[in-house]
Amino acid sequence: MPSAFAHAIAGIALGKLFTGKKQPVKFWLLTLVCAAIPDADVIAFKFGISYHSMWGHRGFTHSITFSLLLGFLVAFLFFADKKWCSPKWWTYMLYFSTVTFSHALLDAMTNGGLGCAFFAPVSAERFFFPFRPIQVSPLSISRFFSEWGVRVMTSEFIWIWVPCLVIIFLVWVGRRVRE
Ligand SMILES: [Zn+2]
Repeated sequence: MPSAFAHAIAGIALGKLFTGKKQPVKFWLLTLVCAAIPDADVIAFKFGISYHSMWGHRGFTHSITFSLLLGFLVAFLFFADKKWCSPKWWTYMLYFSTVTFSHALLDAMTNGGLGCAFFAPVSAERFFFPFRPIQVSPLSISRFFSEWGVRVMTSEFIWIWVPCLVIIFLVWVGRRVRE
């Protein structure tokens, strides 16, 4: 996995692309949660569930189905002020689904571990993209503070932070020009 911070900045970039309007704090907090939460599945290791299992790390929580379900749940629970199933409500639902799935897309560009079960629970097959420049992050915090951690941060800076900050900047400039 890239680190939680890298997933978070990707979520923020998506949020900036999504809307130029001022959003409530909950919008940004939920964006961060959706971007990072798929890795809560590391708890599966504690229950003896193997990495290869559909319910293991990078399994179901890294799937299209999970992303859609979480997007639905977030829109249902936190954006009840938008009319249920109205175009606006669906936009929020799809936005949070996209943010959640951005996590798996980034993981599929890392150079280690297993791929992501994009199509769980229909299939447990794991997928990587052919282009995998992102240095995989260690699963334990203690191993992050090592030469491996430095490699992770350098690679995430180049492949995630810079493109995301460029997107955020361009969106900001684009909106200023149109104002
Ligand atoms: Zn992950």
